[in-house]
Amino acid sequence: MSVVDRQEWDVVVVGAGGAGLRAAIEARERGARTAVICKSLFGKAHTVMAEGGIAAAMANANEHDTWQVHFRDTMRGGKFLNQWRMAELHAREAPDRVWELETWGALFDRTKDGRISQRNFGGHEYPRLAHVGDRTGLELIRTLQQKAVALQQQDFKETGDYESRLKVFQECTVTRVLKDGPRVSGVFAYERESGRFFVLEAPAVVVATGGIGKSFKVTSNSWEYTGDGHALALLAGAPLLNMEFVQFHPTGMVWPPSVKGILVTESVRGDGGVLRNSEGKRFMFDYVPDVFKEKYAESEEEGDRWYEDPEHNRRPPELLPRDEVARAINSEVKAGRGSPHGGVFLDVSTRMPAEVIRRRLPSMYHQFKELADVDITAEAMEVGPTCHYVMGGIAVDSDTAAARGVPGLFAAGEVAGGMHGSNRLGGNSLSDLLVFGRRAGWHAAEHAARQAGDRPAVDDAQADAASAEALRPFSAEAEAGADRTGEAGPPENPYTLHQELQQTMNDLVGIIRREGEMEQALEKLAELRVRARRAGVEGHRQFNPGWHLALDLRNMLLVSECVARAALERTESRGGHTREDHPTMDRRWRNANLLCALADPTGGLAATDPARGQIRLTRETTEPIRPDLLALFEKEELVKYLAEEELYE
Ligand code: FAD
Repeated sequence: MSVVDRQEWDVVVVGAGGAGLRAAIEARERGARTAVICKSLFGKAHTVMAEGGIAAAMANANEHDTWQVHFRDTMRGGKFLNQWRMAELHAREAPDRVWELETWGALFDRTKDGRISQRNFGGHEYPRLAHVGDRTGLELIRTLQQKAVALQQQDFKETGDYESRLKVFQECTVTRVLKDGPRVSGVFAYERESGRFFVLEAPAVVVATGGIGKSFKVTSNSWEYTGDGHALALLAGAPLLNMEFVQFHPTGMVWPPSVKGILVTESVRGDGGVLRNSEGKRFMFDYVPDVFKEKYAESEEEGDRWYEDPEHNRRPPELLPRDEVARAINSEVKAGRGSPHGGVFLDVSTRMPAEVIRRRLPSMYHQFKELADVDITAEAMEVGPTCHYVMGGIAVDSDTAAARGVPGLFAAGEVAGGMHGSNRLGGNSLSDLLVFGRRAGWHAAEHAARQAGDRPAVDDAQADAASAEALRPFSAEAEAGADRTGEAGPPENPYTLHQELQQTMNDLVGIIRREGEMEQALEKLAELRVRARRAGVEGHRQFNPGWHLALDLRNMLLVSECVARAALERTESRGGHTREDHPTMDRRWRNANLLCALADPTGGLAATDPARGQIRLTRETTEPIRPDLLALFEKEELVKYLAEEELYE
């Protein structure tokens, strides 16, 4: 057998971003021996890139803010498809999670009277985002890492070993969740530097691997976002929920080409930045949908007054939820009113003094100066939509974060589905990570404790199969022409396959979707799956990025198929899913979830013909929203969203 090392833990957390670290801290504090494993360097997770802030109804900037208002905003943002219990827990618990961070050493920006400062963001009724300039994610990760180290120091005092109860395996990639019958028994992983394989045995595994953006060509996401956790769960037998909902953030850089997609934070608009087309018009006033009409300003004057006097004015439409703004920009560009490089103009230079811009948006100032030679204190930025976040994810129980159908598997953070419905509000991810990271760690620790007398065993055959799968790209030459589908051909270059996949998803399953194009995408994905079985690499297992990519391709292809199949099935436009051929939101879809599962339930991809697709799609009705939560909305508003029978009830 190729596995050289096995270790026993109570809980294994896959991913060391905000969700993974918060889960690990919780599990360790509840007495579970916890291992954290992450693909990147410890501290380099995607969470570090979060700029704008953490949404929590602390009422520091507006005394009227409450968890109920936050819940309402989140449900409206998600167009009522949110798993409402998650949205409720999130809104109730987010303030405690932020205050807790502060007690662990986080240094947030302050109000004049010394409280944690909160800023405006799209879709949030009140200023709600606790922030650290535009580098909030960095502070969040720094604080969680500091807490983890503090726990390790405590453990050292008691056991003489810093890593006795909490250990980090950095630059290691998990390729399979292992099982003993239906129960989780551990993970199979390789060390990126040496290529060494190892197994971490554990009765509870928390998946916290983030998103899927690297399947799209233009994205704000970092290299790690290859949908690994989504695929790991699918392969272990857990379904994915509503994968059609992918958020295209309205403002990514569009120029120069090398940085296309890099995020321009929503704080730019939250702090007063405005969007204009090539004719100089603030076009967002033309794009306020009926469901939001009462809440947004009708004129530029009213919108501008709102920054100083939010009690007596309505907010500007630049602060509509992201899906609305992204579609509006897309329409302006399509109508020929775009900027020279195919975006629109985002201007703060005429709205704030230069020194305020440099103080409130330091990263944006440097980003544009260094990458595009644009001084945002003197001229407008050019921006356009970029693939940013996936609302779809592992179907979980709202309270415990347990993945559906696989005892011992838990999920939190961007990889988990449900919380954000069809569209996430800015700032609601960082709070989601903390609220559900904690819950996942807590319930994983309890699950592990319950299994203590009867720990699931790791089956050698499964570990061997995982090792053979991981080594396959080294023998692509021998396998070329021997594919069981009869598709012969030379070994394929993983980089070429990745580029074709990204182009396909960008062009055919992107921000505006059409039936024919999605069918074309599914055909192309089938072709890529067949070719990916011949993805070959040269060299050896010591740090070999081509090999790593060849392994990531399996995940990106699985996840992309889920997105395309679900997007084809949902014949309406809602949140992050826009169909040109079904342009309106349809109340009959309000209570419909789409679930993707592996067509071959044994999890062995080899048994499935890649040309025929690997995903089975089913539809389920969502759980009715609890009456006391529904009562937080006006009846007139509910009529716009809920299905006929739900209103009747
Ligand atoms: P991550 O932080 O991405 O962590 C994932 C971890 O999983 C990493 O450690 C990675 O190495 C590991 N991993 C992945 N695959 C594997 C594998 N196979 N094996 C082992 N480890 C693996 N949200 C907000 O709420 N507010 C904001 O202001 C904000 N700004 C943003 C700005 C940018 C530029 C971007 C791109 C996103 C922003 N978001 C923001 C979204 C938010 O940052 C993410 O949704 C969130 O950080 C995801 O956290 P996570 O813990 O789920 O995953």
